[in-house]
Amino acid sequence: MHRILIIEDEPEIREMLRFILEPKGFHISEADNAQDARRLLSRQTYDLILMDWMLPGRSGLELTRELKRKTSLNSPPIIMLTAKAAESDKVMGLDSGADDYITKPFSPREMLARIKAVIRRSAGDNLETAVEFAGLGIDPADHTANINGAPLHISPAEYRLLHFFMTHPNRAYTRSQILDHVWGDEVYVDERTVDVHIRRLRKLLTPSGHAPSIQTVRGVGYRFTPSPLNHEKSSP
Ligand code: CA
Repeated sequence: MHRILIIEDEPEIREMLRFILEPKGFHISEADNAQDARRLLSRQTYDLILMDWMLPGRSGLELTRELKRKTSLNSPPIIMLTAKAAESDKVMGLDSGADDYITKPFSPREMLARIKAVIRRSAGDNLETAVEFAGLGIDPADHTANINGAPLHISPAEYRLLHFFMTHPNRAYTRSQILDHVWGDEVYVDERTVDVHIRRLRKLLTPSGHAPSIQTVRGVGYRFTPSPLNHEKSSP
């Protein structure tokens, strides 16, 4: 069960969030100021923080900066909640280290979708354990890939792409989303780069029969499907 910490000073909004999230199986904790939030964070790990921007005392923006600075790796992802809708505010919120941004009033559906996306993303990004699907394996500890245990000779870029797909399976991503995840702030790469690396990755995975797992989704981008239908592994 995912734990969410709501840091918000308005009781009505906390109550509404609880009302939306608890039936979906989330475990909710609440704080109405930065000090209480710190105390809860020191005792318990959370999968996500919903952070109100305007808190009495230390603001949500300042608290976000503080958390991201102090416990860089252990700090859970943060979604900022605010009535501020200006572009510059969104940029400031994200620059503070927030992972996403939701403006009030928000729809429950959008809220849930954003929460699930952020949690899934952070689980995938932080995954340090080896992953294996149908004989295709990656080991994030030493950035290697293997086919039935035999090392696969793979470049760092193809490894990162494969790691992204294997930790985010069964969902279509656009080229631009893949760029963001895999290449981050290397701004000189463009969307065609994704196609080039997909082509190379498929070529690498062809001899073992794993290439069909990387599917082109028309009009969208790409999706990794661990076991495509009717896909039979060729013998090694
Ligand atoms: Ca507030």
